[in-house]
Amino acid sequence: MFNRDLLPNAQAYYGQYFAFKGNKAKHLVPCCFHHDKTASLSIDMVSGRFYCFGCSASGGDILDFHQQKTGLNFVESCKDLGAWVDTTQDTPDQLAARKKKIEQADREYKARQVQAAKAEKEHAQAFIPLVATISSSNAPSRC
Ligand SMILES: [Zn+2]
Repeated sequence: MFNRDLLPNAQAYYGQYFAFKGNKAKHLVPCCFHHDKTASLSIDMVSGRFYCFGCSASGGDILDFHQQKTGLNFVESCKDLGAWVDTTQDTPDQLAARKKKIEQADREYKARQVQAAKAEKEHAQAFIPLVATISSSNAPSRC
């Protein structure tokens, strides 16, 4: 059974693949899913979300990243990341307790995802008018 609580944190996980400068919540790094000459891959260190502006590789957490990076399926990735619990020896009570804990972790995860998506949207909304202002002020004047 997958237990999200056992996943490594995004900082530790992505640190194996990328050299991050500073301790920011979001990093842009050279993408590992396409031949990237710039830093096109945006990584959210809190939620683990990632998105590439070059090749559109994207996912909601390190588990998505791990599957795409390694080609492993969901269960294999969970096991690979140490987030798979063997429940075959559990009593029904143990299994129920475990499920409850895992569901709680999933709810918290979903709440964080909603928050991260909201923050992304707000960031985009703050950014787009700024770009529009810059490009309109650079437009040649015809008066
Ligand atoms: Zn890419």
